[in-house]
Amino acid sequence: MTVPHVRAAWLQGGDARCEELPPPHGRTYRLVLLGPPGVGKGTQAELLGRALGACHLSTGDIFRAAHCQAEPSPALKAALEAMRRGELVPDAVVVSLVRERAACLRCRGGFLLDGFPRTVAQAEALDELLAELGVSLDAVLNYQLPVEVIVTRLGGRRTCAGCKAVYHVTARPPHVEGVCDQCGGRLIQREDDQPESIRVRMRAYEEYTRPLTGYYERIGKLVSVQASGTPEEILARTLRALSTLLGHKEYLNSA
Ligand code: AMP
Repeated sequence: MTVPHVRAAWLQGGDARCEELPPPHGRTYRLVLLGPPGVGKGTQAELLGRALGACHLSTGDIFRAAHCQAEPSPALKAALEAMRRGELVPDAVVVSLVRERAACLRCRGGFLLDGFPRTVAQAEALDELLAELGVSLDAVLNYQLPVEVIVTRLGGRRTCAGCKAVYHVTARPPHVEGVCDQCGGRLIQREDDQPESIRVRMRAYEEYTRPLTGYYERIGKLVSVQASGTPEEILARTLRALSTLLGHKEYLNSA
């Protein structure tokens, strides 16, 4: 098992470099995690990151990291306002942030894209960028769960203000209440996990993101995974589904 390295290059962009690159892990995995907000993509990305040695790249985390910047650009400021309301940030803003971080997509550690792409236009932009970089997606993991379960999950979700690790007050509590197990940071409830924002986010998912499943199904990269049970059960299910799609048995051994 590998310890996830610090994601400075992804979270900060610009000249920031990761302190440590992931050690060579045999095979490089390049995956997208798809599914409604609150389905558990962030938690799965962390667990998959350890199992496969790939780096968790969340566009939502870029925006949350930018929140702490003293002087965000006007475009970033508008993006943060949209995020607070639970709306999608415009495609052009998100795509340019991802383009600035192209090195992360080429990284030898591979990647687990979480929350990007979220629209068909973003998926097309990602295809174009990966073609320019000479790398390709292995699979798109589509996590599925009934809406009522998701709303309960989102209400109890807590996120580390430091390393962004994800917890749940009942389903995945930290050892010490309000404190991150991994870095000792403070656990907070995201502004966009408030009830009104949750409603707006679910609508945005239905309208813009769900159509992506058809997009990836047509090119034979979609892997559907039921997101019920414990995070470890979902991880095992994911690795099995991935193994079936890619025809590799190695995942099962590493899980
Ligand atoms: P997440 O952590 O992925 O749920 O993202 C939190 C919020 O950031 C979303 O509700 C959007 O406002 C914004 N966001 C993150 N990724 C994207 C994206 N790919 N496209 C548009 N908005 C995004």
